[in-house]
Amino acid sequence: MLLEIKDIHVHYGKIAALKGISVEVNEGEIVTLIGANGAGKTTTLKTISGLRGLTSGKIIFDGRDISKMPGHKRVVAGLGQAPEGRGIFPGMTVHDNLLMGAYARTTSSSKELAEAYELFPRLAERRDQAAGTMSGGEQQMLAIGRALMARPKVLLLDEPSMGLAPLLVQQIFSIIEEINRRGVTVLLVEQNAQQALKLAHRAYVLETGRVVKSAAASDLLNDPAVQAAYLGGG
Ligand code: ATP
Repeated sequence: MLLEIKDIHVHYGKIAALKGISVEVNEGEIVTLIGANGAGKTTTLKTISGLRGLTSGKIIFDGRDISKMPGHKRVVAGLGQAPEGRGIFPGMTVHDNLLMGAYARTTSSSKELAEAYELFPRLAERRDQAAGTMSGGEQQMLAIGRALMARPKVLLLDEPSMGLAPLLVQQIFSIIEEINRRGVTVLLVEQNAQQALKLAHRAYVLETGRVVKSAAASDLLNDPAVQAAYLGGG
């Protein structure tokens, strides 16, 4: 197992946002977390990437307990992240944003750069454009491309389809599939449960800070309760 989240509890002040979440991600998988607004999906990802601290529980990554490791060290260890709201540097060019993604690498990044531009030809066309002037979809591509520059073992994706037109959503999802095919394990948080379940191998359903169901994604797509709650009635 590549990533194991064991019974994590996370608080915002006195409010318990996560009340004992356990999630397992095997090497090579795409795993998705789905659930309503406020269920704790983003908090789970932020806790894995080190942006939020744990009250209790453990995060094991690649055989190491990283529960207390600072976020930037987790990136170096192989946890790549493309956060909700993109988190790109708006005043810098597309190219420089990509290079920032490789800041922790000690060897040349030319291979990773070429791969990012190959996966996202749109970024290659716009390499000298200020990132902040790119469209929402382009910024999402940039956030994913930048995360890949660090050659992550696992890519954490928070709502990559947020705010995108349907055609672009399709594009982003097929690129995520391609990234996975090239050997990157993916943990995906999505509001768009239908698309996420079509893409993922396995899925966890979160409700108010707890996992209420986990199964093969294809089983959840056909689960009447999941259809009624998250897939527009089924
Ligand atoms: P969404 O799909 O709406 O993004 P989510 O499943 O990602 O929802 P979280 O953002 O993880 O849910 O929120 C989980 C709970 O923690 C919610 O009740 C939310 O109000 C609360 N919460 C999140 N961030 C904070 C914060 N910075 N301060 C206080 N409470 C927070």
